[in-house]
Amino acid sequence: MIQLYIPLNFLGVIYREIKQSLADMERLFALLGQHREIADAPQARVLAPRGAEVRFAHVEFSYEAKRQILFDVDFTIAAGTTTAVVGHSGSGKSTLARLLFRFYEVNGGAISIDGADVRAVTQASLRGAIGIVPQDTVLFNDTIEYNIGYGKPGASKDDIVAAAKAASIHDFIESLPDGYASMVGERGLKLSGGEKQRVAIARTLLKNPAILIFDEATSALDSKAEQAIQAQLREIAKNRTTLVIAHRLSTVADAEQILVLEHGRIVERGSHLALLAADGLYAQMWQRQQARQDEELGDAEAA
Ligand code: ATP
Repeated sequence: MIQLYIPLNFLGVIYREIKQSLADMERLFALLGQHREIADAPQARVLAPRGAEVRFAHVEFSYEAKRQILFDVDFTIAAGTTTAVVGHSGSGKSTLARLLFRFYEVNGGAISIDGADVRAVTQASLRGAIGIVPQDTVLFNDTIEYNIGYGKPGASKDDIVAAAKAASIHDFIESLPDGYASMVGERGLKLSGGEKQRVAIARTLLKNPAILIFDEATSALDSKAEQAIQAQLREIAKNRTTLVIAHRLSTVADAEQILVLEHGRIVERGSHLALLAADGLYAQMWQRQQARQDEELGDAEAA
């Protein structure tokens, strides 16, 4: 009993940490197996998304009773389109993703996929329908093949190689002395931020989810790696319903819809051009970012 208790307790700690960071939620759920803070409804159905329209209907949410985080958040991501959420740090962007994944229950309103309330479907089918590219992918201490194949239990080597090619990491893997058998993770080869994200993209491609959450990296990759990753994300987001949690604005310009969150409320919404024309908070954030980039470019040229 004692032996069982300690690891479970330890997993509880990891659970809280990972739940917070959004990183590798899928991995965690597999690890915890039966651990359930949120239970399936007795008559829970299996979610079989068609186009996967995502709807947040008048969502209210607080982590703690005294402090409300989201207020009347109401939006729809049309099937197969991309919505990006921008806003200052702490405005509630990542919370939207946690709620869609049903890490927490909403306190008011509802979240649905193709009209099915996320509380009415099994958690396994909900989480199976959503792929996440986290901002910081934690790799297993295992081979790179295992780390990609994890996206789809039982995937063949051919599937894994195809996913790695599509994520533009195949050539890199082949250049390693042990190829796909190379050990990665804390005790193996250390991959760069961009390489880790490509592993996450390959994993997601293998899983082939109807809905994609992309938690944009807060720490900037170098601009070449950044552009390559963005091109790939555009590719995998095609025909999938995609929610981009944008900590910077660089990925959002071609999203069909941009939501601007301010203290848990949507204060502006529209396309990039419409929001620039509206000359509000988004336009200010954009101008500030452009000015910063120009400065950085100036510094780089002067150096
Ligand atoms: P960033 O861009 O910095 O990642 P964000 O917009 O994604 O920020 P969230 O992570 O959604 O912000 O957090 C929204 C608010 O909720 C913050 O004020 C945060 O302190 C609070 N919060 C987040 N997680 C918890 C938690 N587990 N318990 C209590 N409060 C929390």
